[in-house]
Amino acid sequence: MDSKQLKRKARERGADLVGIASAARWADWPSALNPRRIQPKCQSVIVVGRKVLRGALRGVEEGTSFYSTYGMYGKEWNETAFLVRVIHDVALALEASGAEAVPLLGGGAGLDAKALAREAGLGVIGKGGFFLTPDYGHRQRFGLILTDLALEGDAVAPLDLCKDCSACLEACSLAALKREGDGAFILDETLCASCRNGRQGGSATAYEGNDRLAAACGRACLVALEGRIGNRFDAPFRKRSTWSRDIEGRVSVTPLERKGS
Ligand code: SF4
Ligand code: SF4
Repeated sequence: MDSKQLKRKARERGADLVGIASAARWADWPSALNPRRIQPKCQSVIVVGRKVLRGALRGVEEGTSFYSTYGMYGKEWNETAFLVRVIHDVALALEASGAEAVPLLGGGAGLDAKALAREAGLGVIGKGGFFLTPDYGHRQRFGLILTDLALEGDAVAPLDLCKDCSACLEACSLAALKREGDGAFILDETLCASCRNGRQGGSATAYEGNDRLAAACGRACLVALEGRIGNRFDAPFRKRSTWSRDIEGRVSVTPLERKGS
C-alpha cells in the first residue's frame, strides 16, 4: 500500500482530513513525544481528522444547549464514535497489507497530535492554541495511526491564518489568554479551567483535554476565519449579541456589530 492508496482508503472510510508525517519529521523528538516510544519500528504517522459540524457549536453560541449539540456531536461522539471508526478501518487496511498499525485517539499515549498534524502537512497551530486547517479553521478533531510501513510524507503547510488577528484573546472574559511578543498567546490553564463560556473538559485520551473549540475564544476564531477557509456557508455564524460569564458567573451581553450600523 502506498500513500495515495492509504489516503483514498481513509477518505472512503469517512476521514475529512488525512496527512502523513514521515519519520524524518519526528525521529529526533524527545522520548515522551516520540512515536517510537509506542511503536519501536514506527516509520510513519498517519493523522486522520473529522470535521466538527458548524451546527454543533450553535447551541453554545446561543447559550441554549451545551451538551446535546457540542458536547455529544461536536466532541464526545465525533471522537469516540465517528473518528475511532476511521482510525480502526485505516489500521485494518494497513494490517491487511502486512504492515503493523497502532490506532490511537488524539490524546492517546501522551503523543502531541497537533504537532504531528502540523508535520503531516494538515495545518498550523494558531496563536490561540487551536489547530487551524485551510478547510475548517479550528473545527476538527484528530486521531493517529502509527505504522512500521514507510510512506511518503506530506510537506508542512506554509500557512498563516492568524495574521494580525487576536479575536480569541479579545473574546475571553477571564483574560486567560495573554500576549507575549508577536508569537502565540499564553494560556493561563488554571484560570481557563474556571471558564463558563462554553469550555468543556476532556478525557485523558481526548484530542483536546481542555476543550475550547466551542468556548467564547473558539467561537470567536470561527467567526474570524469565516470567508478565509474552504468550508463556506450561505449565512454568517454569528446571528445576534454574544453572551459571556465572568469568573463569578455573572452574565454580560455584547451587541452584535454590523457593518454600517
Ligand atoms: S476557554 Fe474560556 S477562559 Fe479559556 S481561553 Fe477560552 S474563553 Fe478564555
Ligand atoms: S482567533 Fe484569530 S488569532 Fe486566535 S487562533 Fe483564531 S485566527 Fe488565530
